Amino acid sequence: MTLAPALVVLAAVTAPTPDAQIRAAAERMAPAVVSVRRELHAHPELSNREERTGQLVAERLRDLGLEVRYPVAKTGVVGVLRGGIPGGVVALRADLDALPIEETNELPFRSQVKGVMHACGHDAHTAILLGAAQVLAGLKAQLPGSVVFLFQPAEEGAPPGEAGGAPLMVREGALDDPKVEAVFGFHVGSWVASGQAGWTDGPIFASSDAFTIEVEGKTVHGAQPHMGLDPIPVAAEIVLALQTIVSRQIDGRQPRVLTIGRVQGGRRFNIIAGRVVMDGTMRAHDPGVRTEMKARLARTVRGVAEAHGTLATLRFADEGNPPMVNDLALAQSVGAPALERVFGKGALRVEPQMVAEDFPYFGSKAPYFYFLLGTRNEAKGIGSVNHTSNFDVDEDALPLGVRAMATLAWDFLTRKR
Ligand SMILES: [Zn+2]
Ligand SMILES: [Zn+2]
Repeated sequence: MTLAPALVVLAAVTAPTPDAQIRAAAERMAPAVVSVRRELHAHPELSNREERTGQLVAERLRDLGLEVRYPVAKTGVVGVLRGGIPGGVVALRADLDALPIEETNELPFRSQVKGVMHACGHDAHTAILLGAAQVLAGLKAQLPGSVVFLFQPAEEGAPPGEAGGAPLMVREGALDDPKVEAVFGFHVGSWVASGQAGWTDGPIFASSDAFTIEVEGKTVHGAQPHMGLDPIPVAAEIVLALQTIVSRQIDGRQPRVLTIGRVQGGRRFNIIAGRVVMDGTMRAHDPGVRTEMKARLARTVRGVAEAHGTLATLRFADEGNPPMVNDLALAQSVGAPALERVFGKGALRVEPQMVAEDFPYFGSKAPYFYFLLGTRNEAKGIGSVNHTSNFDVDEDALPLGVRAMATLAWDFLTRKR
């Protein structure tokens, strides 16, 4: 009678658990992961120009014995690790590109490229995912299924007129062969302290839509505005009217932001400007709010211009980024439990952010889970936010990132069995 349960208990205790193996491997390779991160940090490359970075990744993945597709989506890499046991397919994603920012950190491995810097931590993402590939390649024989490693270019946005980033990876079939069933991704940053990870089981990042508004005017002498058409007061009215969309027209319980980041027009104090050009960004967590804001933006721009007898055009820069909403079932069954094992009490449920990225495009192919890897460390003076010239990451968090990504893949595949 008691024999069977006793055997079950014994099996549970002695069954090989990869947690310890993943942890040991991640800690063993920590110096190598740090050195890859520093190598990439010193040689940052802009969106769709990640030639050197893509080649380095492709080479490392080939060395690990993965099937490698390169280039994908211009400079990206897809690596496939086929486990020794048949099973499902999971994808892990990192992004490769840097930003047009001049680094002000005085680090021995500071950027060697003038005006270009890894100020969003994608150097750490790439190094971590290469580490996770190495950890999982070491467990290949026991791995029930396949892991697809997505190294994606141009997350910060392709140069004008070029396709790129996650949408292009999807279009080029990065998730189709083998057919991916879930995608995991993450971002480093100062949102969370080093040693911790932040997750949600719903919205985590916002949508983002960049736009340009052009207000037409008619230039004349500044003393005779009635002879021309002054676009500056029209633009000023548009800026204020747009704020009533977020403050008066959208349900107050819905997160949303509308920012005009640049206004440009005119040449001299006594000349009426010929036109005004404004750039801005729009954010929301709910896809319906996003659609509604876009329509109201167009209506307001058109209406205010018309009231002044002029024309204003509104152009969205590209297709924008959809809101990032973690899959509830995936977060509860795999995401949160995996992070809790890796980070212990450091796995925190966090409030969604209004920042955005293009990762949700992968959601058109499979459910996803995305988390924040804490890299803030005040004691080391690391606290500056992403996209600043003194942004840095606490490298002690890198092995935790490696463990987290390897564990998420492992858990998804073993649960699926
Ligand atoms: Zn960024
Ligand atoms: Zn980023």
